[in-house]
Amino acid sequence: MNLEESSSDHEFRMEARDWLRTNRPAERLPSPDTERGFALNREWERTLFEAGWAAVSWPEEYGGRGLGLWEWMIFEEEYFAAGLGPRAAQNGLFLLAPSLFEFGTDAQKAQLLPRIAGVEDMWAQGWSEPEAGSDLAAVRVRADRDEAAGGWRVNGQKTWSTRAPFCNRLFALVRTDPESTRHRGLSYLLIDLDAPGVTVRPVQKLGNETGFGEIFFDDVFVPDSEVLGGVGNGWKVAMATTGSERGLILRSPGRFMAAAQNLVDLYASVDGPSSTLKRDVVDAWISAQAYRYNSMKTVTRIAEGGKVGAESSGNKVFWSEMDVHMHETALDLLGDGAEIDGKWWHGFITSMATPIFAGTNEIQRNIVAERVLGMPRS
Ligand SMILES: Cc1cc2nc3c(=O)[nH]c(=O)nc-3n(C[C@H](O)[C@H](O)[C@H](O)COP(=O)(O)OP(=O)(O)OC[C@H]3O[C@@H](n4cnc5c(N)ncnc54)[C@H](O)[C@@H]3O)c2cc1C
Repeated sequence: MNLEESSSDHEFRMEARDWLRTNRPAERLPSPDTERGFALNREWERTLFEAGWAAVSWPEEYGGRGLGLWEWMIFEEEYFAAGLGPRAAQNGLFLLAPSLFEFGTDAQKAQLLPRIAGVEDMWAQGWSEPEAGSDLAAVRVRADRDEAAGGWRVNGQKTWSTRAPFCNRLFALVRTDPESTRHRGLSYLLIDLDAPGVTVRPVQKLGNETGFGEIFFDDVFVPDSEVLGGVGNGWKVAMATTGSERGLILRSPGRFMAAAQNLVDLYASVDGPSSTLKRDVVDAWISAQAYRYNSMKTVTRIAEGGKVGAESSGNKVFWSEMDVHMHETALDLLGDGAEIDGKWWHGFITSMATPIFAGTNEIQRNIVAERVLGMPRS
């Protein structure tokens, strides 16, 4: 792992910085968790795509720039440093796409990846069900074989699907073998949310945004061509997707580096902060740096042919706790009135969900104990 930036990487960083500073939206984009905010974020995503910045590490034939993971990390650092927020297209870009690259057929890749980069499709994630959250292997939504039509009939309910009310597509884990239990007999389906029989009901989040959806399937037809990774292989594909969510791909260091810098700036603007707060700000900054170096190690490993494995669970606990800690420190710095409104307050509410989504931190600690450290199951 080389910690020095090469001259070509530096040139790329400058190119990205210039473009982002010149072309970023004049005003901070609203949260994508409302219909209007989602539409505005989607327009911005389209601008990125047209300028070739949607997915820098993808091959050009799929709408990317044909560069590597290093350049992607550099782009993300510049993206967040320019004051931009998380990508509205992130489910498609950072969760589905890595699984499509690994498990998709050539036809699936050719058809779906350019539509993700060009934001023609916006994807929601359909894992959780009312009785299958932490215990994801308890998935009960079932898909029954329709041999004559060449596909599957889906029935059941998903819940907590982020931005599903505004998306047109869903990747979902469903039970295709009715006799099966737990991890076996599951398949990963790519479902059209506009198909007959699908109902998406918006659910309000803390803060009144309708960013969540619960999804009901009533005999929804999904053709064979929309099974990713083969029938019965759903668990394997889903675990690759969750690795992307917990590990590097969805949580690159850029956003935490930018948040740590904003915290330092906030500290500098406050009158007489205590030494305890000074220590908290320094801790936050060091944590962001540590996360960056750890991510560089992961990028090196992936570039050498390695994969993100169970250690992504340790990553998830680290970034979620860092996120909460940074926002708590900011509110303490702001003191009285911090909770009335403002970006730190909204960020704080969002950070409260980070130890829950992408698999709760209790579950991640179990995974680290059993699969990384080899401790006995409790
Ligand atoms: C902001 C946000 C966005 C989300 N977006 C999506 C999305 O887009 N798509 C999607 O499918 N889901 C999404 N989710 C759902 C999320 O994945 C689930 O909330 C999560 O997996 C936990 O499941 P649960 O809510 O059913 O809690 P439960 O599984 O009921 O857990 C309740 C509590 O019990 C603990 N617990 C359960 N089992 C164990 C155990 N074996 N050992 C120790 N502790 C345990 C849990 O850690 C938790 O604290 C989102 C959630 C949030 C908060």
